[in-house]
Amino acid sequence: MNINRRKFLQITGLAFLALAAKPAIDLISKPALVHALDGKIGDNKRLAMAIDLKSCTAGEGCVDCINACHSLHNVPEIRSKKEEIKWIWNASYDQAFAEQKNEFVKEALRDRPVLLLCNHCENPPCVRVCPTQATFQREDGIVMMDYHRCIGCRYCMAACPFGARSFNWSDPRPYLKTTDPDFPTRTKGVVEKCNFCEERLLSGKQPACVEACKNGAIIFGEMTPGTDIYRVVSKNYTIRRKVDLGTQPQVYYII
Ligand code: SF4
Repeated sequence: MNINRRKFLQITGLAFLALAAKPAIDLISKPALVHALDGKIGDNKRLAMAIDLKSCTAGEGCVDCINACHSLHNVPEIRSKKEEIKWIWNASYDQAFAEQKNEFVKEALRDRPVLLLCNHCENPPCVRVCPTQATFQREDGIVMMDYHRCIGCRYCMAACPFGARSFNWSDPRPYLKTTDPDFPTRTKGVVEKCNFCEERLLSGKQPACVEACKNGAIIFGEMTPGTDIYRVVSKNYTIRRKVDLGTQPQVYYII
């Protein structure tokens, strides 16, 4: 979706107005914003991801990262475009970076699929509009979902300019080929999205997509001097999606 800053502010503004009309919802108590995992991440550290489009072989049909993520998180395979659930997916360069369209962008780059996921924005509009605080931001920057608090209003989906959230229009469980017992399945009426594999970080593992990528095209970690991600993002030319909107995406693309 191509959306300029003015339109974006209009959408989030409308969501705020809608919230003002729901005082009963405001009475719902605040969830604990600090997750137990936070203690494992250094103070004031921000987590980020870099995706090296030159090393990614999605253009040759590789979907290892998508399969790893979706099977680990019980993401159902629903074929209907309107009802599909996706945590990580591919789009064309022009779709991913519509605002950076440039006729001189290399042909090879234009044809290359771009891996998309929640950007875990530093300034997340989805969090601001959620009436129940079912979506919240941890101190390390991960934008989380509490499925039990989600009332399915979809304000977060309207506020997210990246289409990073999916809504369960029906019970997703019949669409699961296998079920990972270590991760909760969702129910009808709940929004979901990438969680930067917070459950794996807890045991010191990398996100599933990072581990599944045989080309080392996905780099993840604390954006602190001395870390791998800090080094690759400082040494390479990177772009982020829709930076003009001011959400500060924490997913960087090396092109
Ligand atoms: Fe929220 Fe969308 Fe940013 Fe993810 S990409 S943090 S869902 S605004």
